[in-house]
Amino acid sequence: MEIRRRSETIGLNPALSARLAQAGLLAEIPRDRLAPQGLDADLAYQLVHDHLMLDGNARLNLATFVGTWMEPQARRLLEECADKNIIDKDEYPQTAEIEERCLHILADLWHAPDPGRAVGTSTTGSSEGCMLGGLVLKWNWRQRRLAAGLDGSRPNLVMGTNTQICWEKFCVYFDVEPRLVPIKPERLQLGVPEAIAQCDANTIGVVGILGSTFDGSYEPIAELQQALDALQQSRGLDIPIHVDAASGGFVAPFNSPDLLWDFRLPRVQSINSSGHKYGGVLPGVGWVLWRDDALLPEPLRFNVNYLGGEMPTIGMNFSRPGAQIVGQYFNFLHLGREGYQLRMAALEAIATHLADGIAALPPLRLVSHPRGQLPVFAVALDPAVTRWDVFHLSDKLRERGWLVPAYTLPADCQAMAVLRFVVRAGFNRDMADELLHDIERAVHWFQSLDGPMPSPLEREPSFHH
Ligand SMILES: *Cc1c(COP(=O)(O)O)cnc(C)c1O
Repeated sequence: MEIRRRSETIGLNPALSARLAQAGLLAEIPRDRLAPQGLDADLAYQLVHDHLMLDGNARLNLATFVGTWMEPQARRLLEECADKNIIDKDEYPQTAEIEERCLHILADLWHAPDPGRAVGTSTTGSSEGCMLGGLVLKWNWRQRRLAAGLDGSRPNLVMGTNTQICWEKFCVYFDVEPRLVPIKPERLQLGVPEAIAQCDANTIGVVGILGSTFDGSYEPIAELQQALDALQQSRGLDIPIHVDAASGGFVAPFNSPDLLWDFRLPRVQSINSSGHKYGGVLPGVGWVLWRDDALLPEPLRFNVNYLGGEMPTIGMNFSRPGAQIVGQYFNFLHLGREGYQLRMAALEAIATHLADGIAALPPLRLVSHPRGQLPVFAVALDPAVTRWDVFHLSDKLRERGWLVPAYTLPADCQAMAVLRFVVRAGFNRDMADELLHDIERAVHWFQSLDGPMPSPLEREPSFHH
């Protein structure tokens, strides 16, 4: 009671001094083990809340693709559904029904030949969607091999070195040889002839990305389809495509409706996308769909009893929050086709405004432009500039609260360091102008220095997604 007495003598009101008297505000908070006694809920809330204040401001975060904003009504729904477990389909049949509706909407959006025959599942994000997509490719490949009396033990997967880390994980977790096609300084994505050259009888599939996390560009899926057709003609190899549309699955249908990347291409067997990226939902929800029910092998489905019927479940997790799926459906209802179109067009316009403004600053150069791709772009520094670099610029922008990551590219492009800007819902024209102004000021400041900036001792060796 030492604390109470002292706070009373400095004139705090009794209620406040009673709160202060509780260990939490003045004592060290338990970090690594449970304390013998807990704290009052209000106090625990305040402590955790205060701890998190040093986190970056999510709205000023141009680093992430993941949603940081939803309408207040959507947030209310998320809160109302916070206690629902999506696996309890019997207990929450209405939520399960909403998941089915979302899958049908996506099958239609991605032009499944017969949306009623498409099959899929919600996931925690694209990573799980990619794992499942890859797993099905591997399974179907092995069945074909074994049925033909051939060896089914050395599968490989062909993709660019720009693929997201989840594909590396997939290959390690599921024992598949990754065949990585290096990106080039003049082409930061999968080269189609180079990919074809990596394909053989053990190739379970080729991954195409819509769009790349490095520069926001779309990989040429239609060209890949044509080249794989030609490969089948010449060498008899029938190799499917999985499209990792983590971001583009919710952008291309609205901004580039004529771009052929989805189930309109017969080799595209499966597509994943992140509802929590341009789908506009807070983390975490993703989706994976196969063009036809027949592609999903029976042994990979696990049936649960559901309202007297059998419901197949696919997916890594058992329990998962149902709220984000409800949030996804909210967006489908609230935005509709027109709403998504408007949102994506606005994001492209804002990203274009930002990119063009940056391109007008002499030492900065666009590596990609957001028009006709994700509202994402990368910026490099004129090689003539040696006194400072994009890492310094990234740090300088952070002083103002902006989170714009700098990184070096992989493989054959290691010498290239870029800044990447990801424009998402919640970012507007006014913020873009503010950011442009801050970039301009920072560039002038660096350019006016008499000597070189000190080089940071330890730099990120390469890109972290
Ligand atoms: C973000 C991303 C992933 C991983 O998605 P999560 O939803 O974060 O799990 C996979 N592939 C690409 C191309 C991505 O952009």
